[in-house]
Amino acid sequence: MSKETQKVFNKAVSSERLQKAQEIASNPSAYKVCECCDSIVGANSVTCANCHGYRFDDSQTRVVDQAIFLGTRKKTSVVATDLV
Ligand SMILES: [Zn+2]
Repeated sequence: MSKETQKVFNKAVSSERLQKAQEIASNPSAYKVCECCDSIVGANSVTCANCHGYRFDDSQTRVVDQAIFLGTRKKTSVVATDLV
């Protein structure tokens, strides 16, 4: 995890959502981001659990960015651990 990423997490309020986001951000290769709805899903998922899309961005930068976004701002479900 980069120093910049760590800084973002340190600022944010601790929560279950944030913990999940940290988990994802520290192991981004195990996840990918749905191109349709921006949900984070497990790397082995064939379709998105949220929107049933099948196009994913598996770049680690994108996964980390999205994990931070979901963990600190938006109230969208992080479904990754449901699928692993
Ligand atoms: Zn989706």
